[in-house]
Amino acid sequence: MTVLRTHDLTLGYEGKPVVRDLDLHVEAGEIVALLGANGAGKTTTLLGLSGLVEVLGGRIELDGADLAGVGPHQIARRGLAHVPEDRALFTDLTVRENLQLGQHSRRADVAPALALCPELEPLLGRRAGLLSGGEQQMLAVARAVVGGPRVLLVDEMSLGLAPLVVTRLLAVLREVAATTGCGIVLVEQHVQQALAIADRGYVLRRGRVALEGAAAELRRSAALLAESYLGDDATEAAAQAATGGAP
Ligand code: ATP
Repeated sequence: MTVLRTHDLTLGYEGKPVVRDLDLHVEAGEIVALLGANGAGKTTTLLGLSGLVEVLGGRIELDGADLAGVGPHQIARRGLAHVPEDRALFTDLTVRENLQLGQHSRRADVAPALALCPELEPLLGRRAGLLSGGEQQMLAVARAVVGGPRVLLVDEMSLGLAPLVVTRLLAVLREVAATTGCGIVLVEQHVQQALAIADRGYVLRRGRVALEGAAAELRRSAALLAESYLGDDATEAAAQAATGGAP
């Protein structure tokens, strides 16, 4: 079942297109990696799906319903959760309060989110601002999951985190997809790791889809992919992966 679909979607700022003619789809329980060099339009795409960037053309369907004219709060209520790059936690509130105040989750039970992220259980009384970066990121993911979203957008989750922490967080996402049937769009700088847990991927280049396919296929051609589309950092990462220097 398709939980998210875009048709010829064009997004931009002040009327100027940044992402053009985007056709993507996400199935229930699927993880889709959204890749591309800096400035390719990945964050803009996620913001556009959440209703936070202007739609200049085309349309978005969430669970089969057109989102034209629907505002960000309403989109969230309809089941689209967004974990932004800055995590957007309430740092003065406790972990428990963050979970309880999670987007549109006032009546929701936090137990399933804690089952997916058991590391948070002993931290429930701690202020979010006192957590490590990895714990904060896990809290951001758990909070997004509390409301039982149909689609989860995750932006640069691994920024500044140790590789082992990233591996654990990616495993959490895989479990979220498998156990809740939520479809996940993952923007990730660790291309190899993202493709290792994703089902499919799209590569954006200057705001357009340059390449798409099964994650396993994209992974096999990772060196080429990095060289062609992802810029120097990713080329280096792919080279390391090819020589066994990365997972
Ligand atoms: P990065 O990994 O660097 O965040 P990205 O693929 O997420 O890259 P975006 O942040 O979506 O790329 O940026 C795509 C383009 O949109 C860039 O050229 C950027 O300068 C432009 N852009 C981003 N935010 C704004 C804004 N608020 N106003 C105008 N242009 C913007």
